Amino acid sequence: MSGSLLVDNIGELVTNGAGEGPLGIRRNAAVLVEEGRVVWIGPSAYAPAADHHVDAGGAAVLPGFVDSHAHLVFAGDRATEFAARMAGQPYTGGGIRTTVGATRAATDEELRLTVRRLRGEALRQGTTTMEIKSGYGLTVADEARSLRIAAETSTETTFLGAHVVPAEYADRPDDYVGLVCGPMLAAAAPYAKWIDVFCERGAFDVDHARAILACGQAAGLGVRLHANQLGPGPGVQLGVELDAASVDHCTHLSDADVDALAGTAHSDGSGTRTVATLLPGAEFSTRSPYPDARRLLDAGVTVALATDCNPGSSYTSSMPFCVALAVREMRMTPAEAVWAATAGGARALRRDDIGVLTPGARADLVVLDAPSYLHLAYRPGVPLIRQVIRNGVPQ
Ligand SMILES: [Zn+2]
Repeated sequence: MSGSLLVDNIGELVTNGAGEGPLGIRRNAAVLVEEGRVVWIGPSAYAPAADHHVDAGGAAVLPGFVDSHAHLVFAGDRATEFAARMAGQPYTGGGIRTTVGATRAATDEELRLTVRRLRGEALRQGTTTMEIKSGYGLTVADEARSLRIAAETSTETTFLGAHVVPAEYADRPDDYVGLVCGPMLAAAAPYAKWIDVFCERGAFDVDHARAILACGQAAGLGVRLHANQLGPGPGVQLGVELDAASVDHCTHLSDADVDALAGTAHSDGSGTRTVATLLPGAEFSTRSPYPDARRLLDAGVTVALATDCNPGSSYTSSMPFCVALAVREMRMTPAEAVWAATAGGARALRRDDIGVLTPGARADLVVLDAPSYLHLAYRPGVPLIRQVIRNGVPQ
């Protein structure tokens, strides 16, 4: 689409910038977009003319959701495992190997279609930026192709060769770590922006995780990690030690973990350098206790919300669902949850051009079928996304 775009008659505009309250709300507002960027925000009555026009009809508009944690490159599903869990079996993470087998057996085209299907599903629910991880290939060739396919859809791609130790390396995990740090990283790095490790009992211990993340850093990748999901552990503090952009899950935290995250605070009061990304879809789908968002927020830790979309432990692509869970189950206010799902996700990706609607930001907007962002939590499960504009283009 060429030319300028005006979105006007916005009853409630969430900017996450200057404005009323923590979400920087503007009333009766308009947004002018040129070349994929926001160039003007002001009262709807004074909006300039534009080549194209979207009338929000008094509805709420917010920045597109930033889903900073998703595993979209896989084959098969694990509905049977979900049913077994709901019948009482505990979640251990062991089912990842089932998906590894199916993914290795899939063609490139099958994987590509799954990524596109899920990315489209998320877009229709308001997600305009989505991080995509590898991690179901676990061979040099399968990790590289997973990231190559992910990079066709997102610039936020993450090498997760250290998801689990694959069955063929079960009795020699040191050798697998060597493979990840050596040929696998070399093959994956051209397609990846980030490196991630599942640092958890049954996956990778802290020494292996540190070694793998350090190799990734040396190859120019940013650090993020899965930590403290299934039980207490050293993952969060390792993330802080390595200046991770985000530590994800944070379900089981000690006071020292919370203090370590709070200790990464920027001196200007703009939050913490390492973000705690909470993934309530995983607790929902594994029937586990939710992380305590309130405790993190009260300590001054920057919190993001993401879906963890994957076929085992959280097969949802819906950020509105995660917002509703965070409000109902994690003691976040609706404003905190919406901030965490937009600006928080952007912080978790170390981006300042998304998750906000301010002049210069990328023009990613969601028009709700509701007068207020409050409805995202107040009306759970309802399709409230009326229109999505991504990069200045109505979808
Ligand atoms: Zn995950």
